[in-house]
Amino acid sequence: MTRTVIRGGLVITAAEEVAADVLIEGEQVVALAATGSWVAEGWSAERVIDASGKYVIPGGVDAHTHMELPFGGTAASDTFETGTRAAAWGGTTTIVDFAVQSVGRSLREGLDAWQAKAEGNCAIDYAFHMIMSDVTENSLKEMDLLVDEGVTSFKLFMAYPGVFYSDDGKILRAMQQGADNGGLVMMHAENGIAIDVLVEQALAAGRTDPRYHGEVRHELLEAEATHRAIRLAEVAGSPLYVVHVSSESALAELAAARDRGLNVFGETCPQYLFLSTDNLAEPAFEGAKYVCSTPLRPEEHQVALWRGLRTNDLQVVSTDHCPFCFSGQKELGRGDFSKIPNGLPGVENRMDLLHQAVVEGRISRRRWVEIAAATPARMFGLYPRKGTIAPGSDADIVVYDPNATQTMSAATHHMNVDYSAYEGLVVRGKAATVLSRGTVVVEGDTYLGRAGHGRYQARATCQYLI
Ligand SMILES: [Zn+2]
Repeated sequence: MTRTVIRGGLVITAAEEVAADVLIEGEQVVALAATGSWVAEGWSAERVIDASGKYVIPGGVDAHTHMELPFGGTAASDTFETGTRAAAWGGTTTIVDFAVQSVGRSLREGLDAWQAKAEGNCAIDYAFHMIMSDVTENSLKEMDLLVDEGVTSFKLFMAYPGVFYSDDGKILRAMQQGADNGGLVMMHAENGIAIDVLVEQALAAGRTDPRYHGEVRHELLEAEATHRAIRLAEVAGSPLYVVHVSSESALAELAAARDRGLNVFGETCPQYLFLSTDNLAEPAFEGAKYVCSTPLRPEEHQVALWRGLRTNDLQVVSTDHCPFCFSGQKELGRGDFSKIPNGLPGVENRMDLLHQAVVEGRISRRRWVEIAAATPARMFGLYPRKGTIAPGSDADIVVYDPNATQTMSAATHHMNVDYSAYEGLVVRGKAATVLSRGTVVVEGDTYLGRAGHGRYQARATCQYLI
């Protein structure tokens, strides 16, 4: 069993910042001791990583990715192999991706298909949520089985009629089942029926540019759906996790529900914190690069979302990583914004963008680790194996250089996509060394990982329920 010591860094978890050395045996952390102490000095190891002047943080947990997702006649351009490798480069060591149930098929068939795509291909550890596209007597029963075997969260859609959409009755049934079996319902909260009317009207009036994607997916239709999802969960007595919250009014619904003591949680994504409708309005169809749903909002919403992260009305930042190349994929929507595949790349950028928020004084260092690693791990039943640095935890660790400077660019990123949503953005901070279960997978500018190192993670239920 290989022994590794990480010496001289500032260990930052959601709870503490301590000057400590970290001892790893095999795949796990076994001890922390004060740097320079008799105990720490006494540790001998085959490998010593010098972390002086650097942070030692738990590897990022990205609880929302869509590798290889089929969408709008094409598929997300990152495979499990390329996407998890890019994640590792960016200091993320666990992803929770979404297996998809197709209409007319069982949950099991969808899960098996996604397990087959991922198995043997991932550079880092991975787990699955289940997208329920077809709530039936049978799929409701299947939910119980999936919870028992470690797929403990189920995403439903109030948007995308004819594809993923569930009506309120189906949503209520899935929530009731979740209330019984401990499964957490995740909601894409946008009123898709109303949005489709606005899409039709916009196209008929010749408003076909990418920026109209943001207009028809009206903020109030996100807020309305968020409110409805909360009330349905309240009726069912179930917890609720709202994915990719992008607007101030939707956030207000979450805050009000939490103030009433409900088990309602919210996630936002870097694109809503760093980008806006100005990007969607970029000329020459460049706006298509920023088409995702929920859509980017006017800049003032960013302020509200940062506040929500500080006040804990939002608890998690995930990426909703779902990349499509500009050339050949985003271009499917030239002349009709509704045909632009929805999604942005980001799995490699999340940890660094959020660190930049630390640099700018928007959040603290511990809050950075909390929203990007600890809370997603707790929310989805992976803690303390993931999301912290403690005896018994997996040695998923990033030695992070807070003083490095990098320029985000498609020319240098590792995601399999021909553009960066943050092209030219200069940020401070970069992963120097990344360990996944005790194995160094990234060292400086060298990738040392391999496809198949990543292991499937069965999950417990949400650890926040009261
Ligand atoms: Zn998604």
